[in-house]
Amino acid sequence: MDARTIVAVDIGGTKIACGLVVMGESAPTVESVVKVPTDAAQGGPAVLARVIEQVRDAIERSDRHPVGVGISSAGVVDPRTGDITYANEIMPGWGGTHLAAEVTAAVGLPCCVLNDVHAHALGEARWGGGRDKASCLVVAVGTGIGGAFVERGGIMLGEHDEAGHIGHVCCPAAAGVPCSCGATAHLEPIGAGPGIIREYIRLGGDELCADGSPMHGAEIDRRAAAGDPAAIAAEARAGRALGEVMGSMCNMLDPSCVILSGSVAQCGPAWSDAMRAGFAEQAMPPVAKTPIIGGDLGGDAPLIGAAENFVRSAYVEI
Ligand SMILES: [Zn+2]
Repeated sequence: MDARTIVAVDIGGTKIACGLVVMGESAPTVESVVKVPTDAAQGGPAVLARVIEQVRDAIERSDRHPVGVGISSAGVVDPRTGDITYANEIMPGWGGTHLAAEVTAAVGLPCCVLNDVHAHALGEARWGGGRDKASCLVVAVGTGIGGAFVERGGIMLGEHDEAGHIGHVCCPAAAGVPCSCGATAHLEPIGAGPGIIREYIRLGGDELCADGSPMHGAEIDRRAAAGDPAAIAAEARAGRALGEVMGSMCNMLDPSCVILSGSVAQCGPAWSDAMRAGFAEQAMPPVAKTPIIGGDLGGDAPLIGAAENFVRSAYVEI
């Protein structure tokens, strides 16, 4: 048995990634990753069957002998049981899946499951941008905004395993704006990518790119760099709002660092200068110098986090 090889799976709304994570002495390595469509609309049992197939394939195509399965999944996860306790309409029928138990029954290996945002954060905190840091606030900004707080390798889960929803925190610039969760004035609808596009168009920006495709964030960022006032204003509003909320969260949590990742975090100075200005306005003096850094692991972060979670939870009990 190779005591440090874990099958790692990342289950998202559009794709399932599965590979092997070898937990080395210094840093984990990710091998043999295969991605397949989730086809979430086919329902929970079909997705589960696909996950099991991917795990079996990963075991068979390797000459290593994995000791277990670590899974990162969309939806609300009870990491104590490995059950998916809730999933939204993006993954119909996924909620209620006894994921860890089903995978263990199918492949005969112990299995641990963590929510995908939490897994991403655990990977970055332990082995990515936050390695050697005592605590990390991890924030991912793309089509939505996710977050997690990791202290000394432990994810803050909260009573409902829901902790870290930094996109659903009140912020002044979002006053009156409806949020996907049903509330108003939350950060996500103005701070995430779709909010930047909506604001750009509201300010008079084009609805379509030059090639006729719908306007998208990378094009707005390019236009902001070229001096387009509407693009600059749309990015600045989103960046400032995110920075304000991150500053407020640092007052609350006092992390060693903030790890910022996701497509929106790649935006240029119109966004990042506003983000840092918003942060500086809200952060109290003791936390004002909290480093805001980028993630190191990219798409491997959830796989590494899922494997790390396995090592930290199930493996020590078997
Ligand atoms: Zn909300």
